[in-house]
This record gives sequence, structure tokens and C-alpha cells, in this order.
Amino acid sequence: MADIIQLLPDHVANQIAAGEVVQRPASVVKELLENAIDAGANSIKLIVKDAGKALIQVIDNGKGMSATDARLSFERHATSKIRSAEDLFSLNTKGFRGEALASIAAIAHVELKTKLDDDELGTLIEIEGSTIKSQEVTVTPKGTSLSVKNLFFNIPARRNFLKSNNVELRHIIDEFHRVALAHPTITFAMYHNGSESFNLPESNYRQRIVNIFGGKTNEKLVPVEEETEVLKISGFVGKPEFAKRTKSEQFFFVNNRFIKSAYLNHAINSAYEGLVKDGSYPSYFLNLTVDPKTIDINIHPTKTEIKFDDEHTLYAILRSSVKHSLGQFNIAPVLDFDRDNNLDTPYDYKDKNASTPTIEVDRSFNPFQDEKPVSKSSGVSTSYRKEPAAQWESLYVGLESKGTKVEHDFSEVEFESESENASLFAEDKLVETTQTTYQLHNKYIISTIKSGMLILDQHRSHQRVLYEGFLKHLTVKEAVSQQLLFPLTLEFTSTEMESLRQLKEDLEHTGFVFSSFKDKAIEITGVPINVPESEVSIILEQLISDVEQEVPDSNFSATDLLAKSMSKSLAIKTGQSLTRLEQEHLVNSLFACKEPSVSPTNRITFITMSVDDFDKKFM
Ligand code: ADP
Ligand code: MG
Repeated sequence: MADIIQLLPDHVANQIAAGEVVQRPASVVKELLENAIDAGANSIKLIVKDAGKALIQVIDNGKGMSATDARLSFERHATSKIRSAEDLFSLNTKGFRGEALASIAAIAHVELKTKLDDDELGTLIEIEGSTIKSQEVTVTPKGTSLSVKNLFFNIPARRNFLKSNNVELRHIIDEFHRVALAHPTITFAMYHNGSESFNLPESNYRQRIVNIFGGKTNEKLVPVEEETEVLKISGFVGKPEFAKRTKSEQFFFVNNRFIKSAYLNHAINSAYEGLVKDGSYPSYFLNLTVDPKTIDINIHPTKTEIKFDDEHTLYAILRSSVKHSLGQFNIAPVLDFDRDNNLDTPYDYKDKNASTPTIEVDRSFNPFQDEKPVSKSSGVSTSYRKEPAAQWESLYVGLESKGTKVEHDFSEVEFESESENASLFAEDKLVETTQTTYQLHNKYIISTIKSGMLILDQHRSHQRVLYEGFLKHLTVKEAVSQQLLFPLTLEFTSTEMESLRQLKEDLEHTGFVFSSFKDKAIEITGVPINVPESEVSIILEQLISDVEQEVPDSNFSATDLLAKSMSKSLAIKTGQSLTRLEQEHLVNSLFACKEPSVSPTNRITFITMSVDDFDKKFM
């Protein structure tokens, strides 16, 4: 057989390499910003049009390039950053593979303007799909400006594969944040479609975080500082009560490079163990400094993964210093064995003699008695079933005189949650009938039916009920709104505001009333009926996170997403105990739904078991 192996032509090799380096507009942003930093710039501008599909331009005031270097920079494996493989182990630049510009130029229209500080004139190069279109001398300020237009113009499949502008823009903003966070002493600005999205002046690390994520972030931050022989840690972690529904505020930087590490992330999570709820993510902004010799960042073309020589030690140090910081700022609960016991006794009772608690026994109570016909004589068992609270109160006999402050607070808390539950079932006026429902482990509701037994998942079932209600309001656009006594102001980041703006109209159809929609905050004067004010920020945060996770495609419907998200936030949770009326109401409402058998996210809401099934089990 004849020889069949050929060397790939350069432009093909470049296109293939581009596939690895450039997945989407955000990858270009990352490479260009990193080049600007490597060039020593202290001011960097990012200009984006149509989420980077039309234009990505980075302008820096760094050292610039000579005409020859400018031409060479587009060659594959052309780099000024390393000369030999050994240099990889003392690296202090972002780039080193010499692939980025070659790859980008293979799949886009690129224009480079650059000038060395000492030179009078600079160089302008235009290049399309690896072909140089022109090179000339030009007047340009010191530094480099690189514009990338029509990304993937020659690979239609890749271009079609790009997500909506929203999704792509979010990826770009993520990259921008990562680079800007790693370099607080560099001034950054970002513009999208002609308007300024970020303006980040030179600052310290805390200010940089606040400038990016909004003024409210400041109070959330707890500093972390640790220096050991192998590792230096500096930065901030978020107070547990501010943990977010998304991972959008979790950042690790190793030697000023953003990296992803599930292992180190685990170390942080374990430091927060017991302090944050499942499904919430603590914020962290941590810079790790290690000897470049002890890491390998060469394992992935985008260099976001890293191999550490001694991961276990890093894990332990990281975990303990985060724990220490949380503890120092009195956030982690501390066990204090030397505590004066008197402090635990309500003041009023400190000097009183302990009184023997009274025990009341219902001598007429017969557990085997048929409960259905409620006879007047068995007074206790009736009151037990009607008012479980009465039984609770009897536990506090003797403690009831002047209510201490603490007791007072308690009753208020209970009252609030009661009224909240009650409002969920506002029209409930069922008269006491025989018991047909039963709650199992505060999770399932069991009800008898003709053929046997029905078992409902309370959380999923309630989601279905709320979901259909919201959908109806959204489609007929006539939701009922309850006015807030005081307007509620909530702050969001620019990215979050972007998502909210899109959903504003739909939110209004569910009953939200907005009095202002500013750059980084919204003011709410009305909320949908049945939505407690305290839940509003949680609902909106959940909603934003759902929008971000949803990959909008042709089937994407904001209405549906909103209904899903709100029902998820507001539905009765697993673990919540329900009164009998609430249980019955839930069963009835579920079966009044159009599609009772599945939750809005297509999970089963109930199962049935027939008497036959039981009979089989008892054979
Ligand atoms: P790498 O960054 O891995 O070296 P690139 O393809 O990103 O590879 O860039 C190639 C070379 O072009 C760099 O090594 C650098 O010398 C030069 N270069 C790229 N961007 C800039 C810039 N903004 N300012 C000055 N020089 C640059
Ligand atoms: Mg580079």
C-alpha cells in the first residue's frame, strides 16, 4: 500500500488547536485579558458586542510589541514567555503555550494595533482565518489593542453551537470577574453594546470584591490569612448566613490564576459543615500562593486545572484556616464548658425554688377505643385531636407567670409561621370530619381511598398545586398583589440585574409591583398574594439561579420557568409538619390540578397501593 500519512497544513492544525483553546467568546476574552496582564498593563479595557459574537476587543497600556513580534505573535508555539521546558517550573506569567493568538486568528477576523513605549509609530496587522490581509505602520497609543470579530466565521457548526447572547455574555462576565479579582491593582473596565457594565478602579482586594459584587458584600466578608512553609492563604470567606443558592461567588486563585478544584472546594465545604444548609453555597475569594515548582498547570489548554504535589497538606491547611477564621469572628458555634449555669436560667426564676411539675393523667383514656365516634365523655382525647397546642402548654405549667423576653419572642415566631401556613390554605373552612389523612415523617401524606391507600410527597405535590396556580395567573395576566407597608429594596449584581430585567414583565404578572429598577437595586412595593415578604429575596435569588442554570433554547419559556421556580421556593418543604386540615387541603388541591401525577419538574407526586397489594404482602 502507498504511504498515506501527511503533515497537516498550518491553518488546519491551528483550527484544530483552536477547538481546544477557544470554546466560546468567553475563552477569547480570557486569553486576551491574560495577554494584557502578562504585558504589564495597569489599565485594561474590554469591549464586547453581541455577547462577543460580533466583537471582542481588549485594549491595554502594556509594553506593546515590535513590528516583528507583532507578526510572529500569530504563529503557533510563538511565545516570549518561556524558552525551555524548565521555565515551566518558575512561571509567573499567565500564558506560555504560544497558542492563543494563532488559534484565535485561525477562526476569526483579527485586527492588532500595537506600539512599544519608545517607538514613534506602531504596527497594524489584519488577519482572517490565519491569512495575513495587511500589515502597515500606524499611529496608536502605547500598548496593544486586539479586536476579534465574527468568531467562528469559518466553522459554521461551532457558530451555531453557541448559546443565546445571555448565556454567552454570562460566561464572558465570569471570565472578566476571575481576571479582575486576581488583579485588584489593575484598573479594569468592561463595555457591552456601548454601555458600561463594570468600572473597577485600582484598589485593595476587599474593595475589588465589593466593586464587583455590590456594596452589600462588604459586611459578608470574613478575612482569612495564613502563612505556612508550603502555602500562603489570603482572602475572604463569606459569613455562613449569606450563603448563596448558586456557586457564583466561589473563587480560588493559585499564584494569581483562577483555578477550579473540586478537592479544595471540598475542604472549604467541610469547614462550613453544619453552618450552611444543603443546597446553599458559601462565598469564598481565596488566594493561595505556592512555590511554582510544586504545581503543574500544564495539564489543560485553558489552564484552569492544576496538579499540586501535596494536595493532602493543602486540604488540611485550607480547611483549618477557614474554620479558624469563621470561629474567630464568632460565626462557628463555640462550645463553652466553663459557662456559668446561672446565665442559662431566666432571671425571674433564678432565686425561686424549683417546683414539682404537675402531671395530669387522663384515666379514662383507652388506646384501644374506637376513635371515630367522638363521645363527649372522653374530653381529653377530643381536645388532644383538636388542639395539640394545649398539650404543649401543659408542659410549661408552673413556668408561666411573667413571660420573659425569650418566651415572648418565641410566641411571636410561632405566630408568624402559623399565619404563613394558614394563608397558604386561606379558604380552609372544613368542618371536623373523620380522619382520612395522616402525615408520615413530615414528608409523606397518607390518605385512604376506595381501592386502598394513597401516598403523597408533600413537597412535590404542593409544587404542582402552586405551579398551576402561577401559570394561570401568568397567562391571564391578572394576578392579585398585596401591597407592602414599606417598599422593599434589594441589591443585586449587574449580572443578576440582567436576568431580572428579562423577567420583570412576567414577575409583574404574578403580582410583583416594582417601583424602581436601577443599576444594582430594585425596589418592590407589592408582592403576589401568599408570598411572605421575608421570602421575596429568596424567591428572586432562586429564580436568578434557575435562569442561569437553564440553557435557554427554542423551548425556553420565561413564564414556565418563573412558575416553576416560584413554586419550588414557596412549596411546603419536606420536614414541615402539617395540620390535618392542611393535609386534606393539599390532597384535594392536588387532585384538582390538570396534571396531578407529576411535579413541575416531572417527578412523581404520589403513589397508590391497593388492598390487593397489601393482601399479597400478608400472604
Ligand atoms: P502566550 O501568551 O502563551 O505566550 P499568545 O498566543 O497568547 O501566547 O501570545 C503570543 C505572544 O504575543 C506572547 O508571548 C507575547 O509576547 C505577545 N503578546 C500577545 N498579546 C500581547 C499584548 N497584549 N501585549 C504585548 N505582547 C503581547
Ligand atoms: Mg496568551
